[in-house]
Amino acid sequence: MERTTILYEQPAEGVARIVLNRPEMRNAQDTRLLYELNDALDEAAHDPAIRVIILAANGPHFSAGHDIRETGHLETQAQFRPVGTQAGYRAPGAEGRMAREEEVYVGFCERWRNIPKPTIAAVQGSCISGGLMLAWPMDLIIAADDAKFVDVTVAMGIAGVEYFAHPWEVGVRKAKEMLFTGDPLSAEEAKQLGMVNRVVPRAELEAQTLALAQKIARQPTFAVKSAKLAVNTAQDAQGRHAAFAAAFAMHHLNHSHAMEVHGVPVDPNGIHGGVRKAYKEGEEPFRRPAATSASS
Ligand code: ZN
Repeated sequence: MERTTILYEQPAEGVARIVLNRPEMRNAQDTRLLYELNDALDEAAHDPAIRVIILAANGPHFSAGHDIRETGHLETQAQFRPVGTQAGYRAPGAEGRMAREEEVYVGFCERWRNIPKPTIAAVQGSCISGGLMLAWPMDLIIAADDAKFVDVTVAMGIAGVEYFAHPWEVGVRKAKEMLFTGDPLSAEEAKQLGMVNRVVPRAELEAQTLALAQKIARQPTFAVKSAKLAVNTAQDAQGRHAAFAAAFAMHHLNHSHAMEVHGVPVDPNGIHGGVRKAYKEGEEPFRRPAATSASS
């Protein structure tokens, strides 16, 4: 796959660094970027020479979230081979919307979380809503001191981002505050909550992340893989899967409610009217085709 939004580097032996490279868009995630990122992570996962994977971002910000200005997303998606088995992305109504989000959001996040190699996110600047869905599936998170983590979806009429890891990432109490207020967590606060492993000066983010990756790369791969699986399984034994599925269903009830009330799948008054502006400028994002025969 030719990649135009993602860089794939090997900065040291055994280490792959995958870089979000849409800085002019604050690394907003459109359909192309998500498929290219998934492809790059697959490449690193399947390459026996790669022992640790870094996910980084070019520019001042890690990611502004999902690209709500994207148009023609179903056509773009049709250019890529689906990685999940959901199908039905063009089905009318909630059926198609849910199938698409199962593929490009929760489906991708879950695959990345389960890569049997250690993954490290290096986060600087803003990490907004969908941005959390790139950092959270990684095993470790190194934050620059200027990093900020925020989920602004409640103001858009939605219970939270599709990959609903908040209670596990920051704890139940803080998860509620984070969602109810839409206030950002600083890097230091995220570290205190256990969401971030280390906070480093912005200028040292790349070097310190690489040093950590190299340290882990010296460990026996099977033991590291086993340790990862053991921790992930502990999390799943706490009911993570069932909780995610319930949250995802609520998320889509919220989308459908917004369609009924506003005619678009999120409350357009969200993020200070920015959503409304995006809708005016382009095709209404995520609008489903009119109810006709469903295909692929
Ligand atoms: Zn959604």
